[in-house]
Amino acid sequence: MKSGSKKVLLALGVFCVFPACGNNSERLPVQRERQGILSKSKVESVLELKNATWKEECDGSRDSIKLEIAQVLDAKQAELDAYRKLLPESPGYSRIRLGRAPHEFILREPSEVKKDLSHEWKESEESWEELYEHFLEIKNEPISARWDYLEVYFNSIAGSDRDRTVEGEDYSLGKDSGPKIEKLFQELKKTKSFLDCVDRNFSPESLSFINSIDLYKGFWKRINDPNRTPEERQNSYTYFLKWISYGRDGYTFTPNLSIKKISKDEIELPIFSNASSDILEKIEKYSAEIWTFPDLKLKIRWVNDLTGSPENSIFSLFIDRIFGRRSYVSTNKREMHLFQDVRATTIPHEIGHVLGFPDRYYEIWNAQKCSYTTQYLEIDVMSSSPTGHATLQERLELKEAYLK
Ligand SMILES: [Zn+2]
Repeated sequence: MKSGSKKVLLALGVFCVFPACGNNSERLPVQRERQGILSKSKVESVLELKNATWKEECDGSRDSIKLEIAQVLDAKQAELDAYRKLLPESPGYSRIRLGRAPHEFILREPSEVKKDLSHEWKESEESWEELYEHFLEIKNEPISARWDYLEVYFNSIAGSDRDRTVEGEDYSLGKDSGPKIEKLFQELKKTKSFLDCVDRNFSPESLSFINSIDLYKGFWKRINDPNRTPEERQNSYTYFLKWISYGRDGYTFTPNLSIKKISKDEIELPIFSNASSDILEKIEKYSAEIWTFPDLKLKIRWVNDLTGSPENSIFSLFIDRIFGRRSYVSTNKREMHLFQDVRATTIPHEIGHVLGFPDRYYEIWNAQKCSYTTQYLEIDVMSSSPTGHATLQERLELKEAYLK
């Protein structure tokens, strides 16, 4: 299998069908935010992945299993949603219904308290192979929690694939990359053009960091390639600076300018929403459980009319009618999206983004294994929302940003 695919690449010579194995210099992420937005049907999503610009060789080799799962899930979608609307038990969670049709909101509340959380970094793996194995096990079974899991898994991995191969996002930075990218960023700030991008201007740590990331290594090589024109090299330099700056954003707290200090230990977060009061109360309750400390209280102020409002940086909450998608926050658009059947513990994680925190779990794409490895910390809500709480560092960052 492996030697066969190598032959194909050799036959194509310099013309490489998979951009990741060839020229990366024009690659910049389209939206710079991981949102995992999928098409209406699973088959459409898979077709989009099939034609993706930044698709790699191994992505292509999984096309048929993706399509097979997508077709079955599409055919069962209505049945699966009807099953969830009956509020069956979900392992570790119980479902509740809030609001009223057609604006109802089905939420999964934890039915057990997670104890003995580990303080060590852990890893989990996602791959189409694993998903397909699960699919083969259940494909002749009636709708159950296992089908529910299949769809959530599908949406998760297809969402990551989309962000990586369609949007052009980089999936190579991990839990230890933060200080390294900061150091490289500071060193790059001192450079003025591609001519300054020579090894002697950078620390050995930064050079070895560049060499550890294929994307950066490619840029470095092209910046320093004497066979390219100064314009081409300058262009690569500009793109490289952008990539480093985007990468750094993933480790940086970004204060939300709409948040106000309302007393010595209280902050107020305005959010626009038209959802019913029982939904908003739950969102407030779950947010406060995580983001309230003896010396800092979070109060959400719900705004239901934005017209004439001077608050242009205020976030809006959207509750989507689709089931099983990954919730997300778009800082660029100032939107928070929750989907049907969301775990209640996801709410304070998304509110954490609205407060200014980046994700603290790190999804790393491994092209050799054709899988994603996620590094996470059970105790941190921004790293592992089902189990985590606010860390001391997060509490200090909030105080520093909003209570000074
Ligand atoms: Zn997140």
